[in-house]
Amino acid sequence: MATSEKKTAYERFEAKVRKEATGCWIWTGAKDGSGYGKFKGHDKVMTPHKFSYEDKTKSTVPKGKIVKHTCDEPLCVNPEHLVLGTYSENAKERWTRTGRNLQPADVITRAIRKAIPAVTENQLISALQALGLSVFTEPGDGDTA
Ligand SMILES: [Zn+2]
Repeated sequence: MATSEKKTAYERFEAKVRKEATGCWIWTGAKDGSGYGKFKGHDKVMTPHKFSYEDKTKSTVPKGKIVKHTCDEPLCVNPEHLVLGTYSENAKERWTRTGRNLQPADVITRAIRKAIPAVTENQLISALQALGLSVFTEPGDGDTA
């Protein structure tokens, strides 16, 4: 039987987006512990801003790259506010922009990994959060989906 009422991934995505006067599109759907949203795209779970970027550019984010926000709003999914970057670039820029006099999260992440080689991603995130640091990891890029 044809499932004519089945929505496309983009329609499901758009239904969860609130477009703000600032130009940001705020994700109102499911969230995970990282502060980003969670969205089941075409066949895998990803962050909604990554889905938005990939859908807009009709491309796939290459391994080792992340989709960054130019607007500092982690829940924003407006593709106009999204650019490709790397994890460390993102951490660096974020610390520069906030002007906080703290070590970048990636420096601390490296220090923790060196001290505790068996540390899991979740323990690492908890440790960073306990230090009051934001976590910039890109959750669920599909490897385990
Ligand atoms: Zn935005």
